[in-house]
Amino acid sequence: MAWPSPVAVDASALPPVDRVLGWPALALLVERHGRSVVLDAIRAELAACRTKAADQTLTDRDLATERLVAGIHERVARATALRLQSVWNLTGTVLHTNLGRALLPAAAIEAVARAQGEPVALEYDVASGRRGDRDTLIAPRLAALCAAEHATVVNNCAAGLLLTLGALARRREVIVSRGELIEIGGSFRLPDLMRAAGARLVEVGTTNRTHLDDYAEALSPRTAMILKVHPSNYRITGFAADVESSALAGLAAAHGLPFVVDLGSGALIDLSRHGLPAEPVVADVVATGADLVLFSGDKLLGGPQAGLIVGRERLIRRLNKDPLKRALRAGKLTFAALDAVLALYQSPESLPQTLTTLRLLTRSRDSIRATAERLCPVIAAALPAAFAVTVEAVASEIGSGAQPGETLPSYAVAIRSRSPSAAGLTALAGRLRHLPRPVLGRLADDRLLLDMRCLEEAAEAAFGAEIGRLTP
Ligand SMILES: *Cc1c(COP(=O)(O)O)cnc(C)c1O
Repeated sequence: MAWPSPVAVDASALPPVDRVLGWPALALLVERHGRSVVLDAIRAELAACRTKAADQTLTDRDLATERLVAGIHERVARATALRLQSVWNLTGTVLHTNLGRALLPAAAIEAVARAQGEPVALEYDVASGRRGDRDTLIAPRLAALCAAEHATVVNNCAAGLLLTLGALARRREVIVSRGELIEIGGSFRLPDLMRAAGARLVEVGTTNRTHLDDYAEALSPRTAMILKVHPSNYRITGFAADVESSALAGLAAAHGLPFVVDLGSGALIDLSRHGLPAEPVVADVVATGADLVLFSGDKLLGGPQAGLIVGRERLIRRLNKDPLKRALRAGKLTFAALDAVLALYQSPESLPQTLTTLRLLTRSRDSIRATAERLCPVIAAALPAAFAVTVEAVASEIGSGAQPGETLPSYAVAIRSRSPSAAGLTALAGRLRHLPRPVLGRLADDRLLLDMRCLEEAAEAAFGAEIGRLTP
């Protein structure tokens, strides 16, 4: 069939907004989404046509009813779509901060769903019929898991540090090693946080070496605490020295000061028993004499975003009395998820199956390789012939600052461009990101790697269908 060639038209040919709103082809859209969102879409669609008219590129084809209706549908779909999209994390980083860190285990997802849709006894003591305290849901179990006297929960680890500094060191001094003045992704800088909490930072030692004497010499009547920060996302190697927690705890205790440790990730169990790089275990740090230990809920713990603080009952009580605690407290969804995750820790031998984060971190190379080999032909079939697809041994990362420099052996589907230009690969990565559920890999040298560690067998079919949509 021969189409007549398009004819240039000017803006006067555009239909008025009210008439478009009355088109039968839009009736269902108005019924489903309401008048105002459709009206906005119509105005935007017509404005786009007017811009084209001004450039003298508007044709009668642009004004065909089906064409305008399709454009309006698309604009409404975009305006009403949820902004928080699910993605496929094939980056190789398990605890990816930009992708929401830990994935909750099924038990926690159920607990969160229940707490969202049903009234829950969050601050209500069912036994006595009196008002309760949300912390009592979590504190005894968390304290027991960390062999600590007491525990409290806030919104995240940064909030835990803000609360600790604000409640225990406001207008006083906090001694920190220069080697630990860290910045963590997302504008967490220790000196800035210290200032925001109203505490004065006293830096001791040098970037690579700090000794116990450096701390001792910095003590003054204005000192409120000694703080040790786990240098999460970087490592100083070579001629370096820091002071053991037990020595700092001793020094602080001798001067009647609290010794606080910000562990960041922190593990509740010994990960080396599961073949993973050893990460400080919270209970071990408590046992060195630390008065308070702070760590995140959504890093190695494998739970929801939360800041967990464990340690001396006397200090936790001071934190709980501070007005900052009320401002930084966690919500019921966090409590529901944390409750369920900590319950799983009661049966530690099952954790490699039940705790999603640990399951992904300890997944066997054979299992990852099998996934990569099954999906390799599926991916190859969906890509243009310009790409070569192979299975390749790669290294995954734990992420979230845990054990920088340590990697986990993994397998990826590697995609290479057969043509000498690398532009095709970047464009392909872009197309993968524009799938309904975006596929995120990582570009490394001359290839795009899709690390299969976080793609469990149960999701393979869904992933295959997703990739299949690439085929034009
Ligand atoms: C990750 C991290 C934090 C921040 O934790 P959030 O839960 O993201 O607020 C603080 N300190 C250290 C050492 C960390 O590794």
